[in-house]
Amino acid sequence: MSRIQMVDLRSQYERIKPEVDRAIQEVLNSTAFINGPEVKLFAEELAKYTGSEFVIPCANGTDALQIAMMALGFEPGDEVIVPTFTYVATVEVIALLGLKPRFVDVLPDTYELDPNGLEKALTPQTVGIVPVHLYGQCTNMENVLSFAKKNKLKVIEDTAQAIGAVYTYSDGSKSQAGTIGDVGTTSFFPSKNLGCFGDGGAMFTQDSELAERLRMVANHGQKKKYYHDSIGVNSRLDTLQAAILRVKLGHLNRYSASRNEVADRYDDAFRGLPMVKIPKRAKNSSHVFHQYTLQVEGGRRDEMKAFLQEKGVPSMVYYPVPLHLQNAYREFGYNEGDFPVAESLCKKVLSLPIHTEMNLDDQDFIIKTVKSFFK
Ligand SMILES: *Cc1c(COP(=O)(O)O)cnc(C)c1O
Repeated sequence: MSRIQMVDLRSQYERIKPEVDRAIQEVLNSTAFINGPEVKLFAEELAKYTGSEFVIPCANGTDALQIAMMALGFEPGDEVIVPTFTYVATVEVIALLGLKPRFVDVLPDTYELDPNGLEKALTPQTVGIVPVHLYGQCTNMENVLSFAKKNKLKVIEDTAQAIGAVYTYSDGSKSQAGTIGDVGTTSFFPSKNLGCFGDGGAMFTQDSELAERLRMVANHGQKKKYYHDSIGVNSRLDTLQAAILRVKLGHLNRYSASRNEVADRYDDAFRGLPMVKIPKRAKNSSHVFHQYTLQVEGGRRDEMKAFLQEKGVPSMVYYPVPLHLQNAYREFGYNEGDFPVAESLCKKVLSLPIHTEMNLDDQDFIIKTVKSFFK
């Protein structure tokens, strides 16, 4: 039995090694390490894949969020609505830019912004809202869009965990995650569903002027070299990473399908178990299973994690502390009890290994081990 990992990047690489190695070698031969032709080609191919008008590559998913907020003109003192149950990057850039996060609780089974909490978070200073497509499934974007429209808020979709997920509107039409809000942001961190061999990120928009501003902010606030119209940042996708991503984009459908096969097997195996909840599939979104996350009831999550670890099955808690209770964000004045759903999820969630190259033996072993905890 191979040692089971949360994510197996080595077998994923080995399966596409000739293609990837060739792409890397070509960049090395060209020495166009910064802004080489692959960067533009990858952006065009990702635009085609996602159906987005514009794709602007950048250095990572955190930068993508920051650049989006800068390009949308958010100013110190402005407020941005965010879920408290998400990765820290979302709120970090808000605080860094001198904006104020307005936390909202999440729904207990899909982890999306609780639509009932939005009004309460709204103030005259609110300028934006950041829905996060957590674990690989889209937020109900129609809720977000109608709230945003009514209150003139900009929508930034954090799509770092959900690239390729498809949202279906109530009229039946479809859009990919990231292409629905004013700006969508994503990350190509190696373990993300479309991961490179280092850091990378991108922004999506359907608005040509905004695309221009995003490009400008990401490039030191300049359109023309050495003429700086706004304060910007330096955030580029390396040519090497773009070349790797071009190869991997060609496999993304297969990657999503493999993740779904594993998730389906886990669902079938765990559906009847007492004390665990399998992931809820939203009606209006496909799932790309960045994570397969169980909820363990009865206060036994940590015990189960330790049990699995001892048997050789890794698992992870995404996330153990909601953002409103993190020390770094105390100054924003939130307290324990403010967002009971998120606080309780932090004690229940447990993500199992899921990746693109999982063999049946490993899946069976994980299933058997999880089941044996409840015997
Ligand atoms: C990974 C992630 C990010 C940040 O991406 P980086 O490329 O690591 O900066 C942002 N938001 C969410 C929800 C993420 O999962």
